[in-house]
Amino acid sequence: MNMVDTINKHLLQAPNFECEICNEAITNPICPVCLTEEVNIWSTLYPSLRHELMPRLKQYLKTIKMNTNDSSRCIKCHRHRVALCSYCFIREVLEELEDLQVNRDIKKEFLQFFNYDLGHTSYKDDIY
Ligand SMILES: [Zn+2]
Ligand SMILES: [Zn+2]
Repeated sequence: MNMVDTINKHLLQAPNFECEICNEAITNPICPVCLTEEVNIWSTLYPSLRHELMPRLKQYLKTIKMNTNDSSRCIKCHRHRVALCSYCFIREVLEELEDLQVNRDIKKEFLQFFNYDLGHTSYKDDIY
C-alpha cells in the first residue's frame, strides 16, 4: 500500500474533528444530549439542584449546533454529531453550578462523577 492510501485509510477510520470551542481533537465524541442525560442521572442525588439545573441545560442545548457535517457521530447514541468536546460541555455545566452557587463538595462530586481531568489544557488555561 502506498503512502497516500495509508493516509486516506487513516482519515476514513479516524476522522480527527476538532472541538468548536477549545480546538482540541475530539477523541471520544459524546454528544451534548447524551451528556445532559448523564448530568440528569447525577443530579437525581440533589433534587432541588436538579430542578434548577436541568432547565438551564436544556436551554444551553438549544444553542449548540448539532448534526453539522464536519463533526463526528456520538459514540453513545449514534444519532447526533458532536462539534464540541465533553470537556467544554462539562465546563459549561460547571459554570451553571457556580451560577447556582452550589457548594464545593457537590462540584467536586460532579467532577468525579464525570471523571473530569482538571489537567486538561483548555481548563488549565482558564485557571492560571
Ligand atoms: Zn473543547
Ligand atoms: Zn449522543
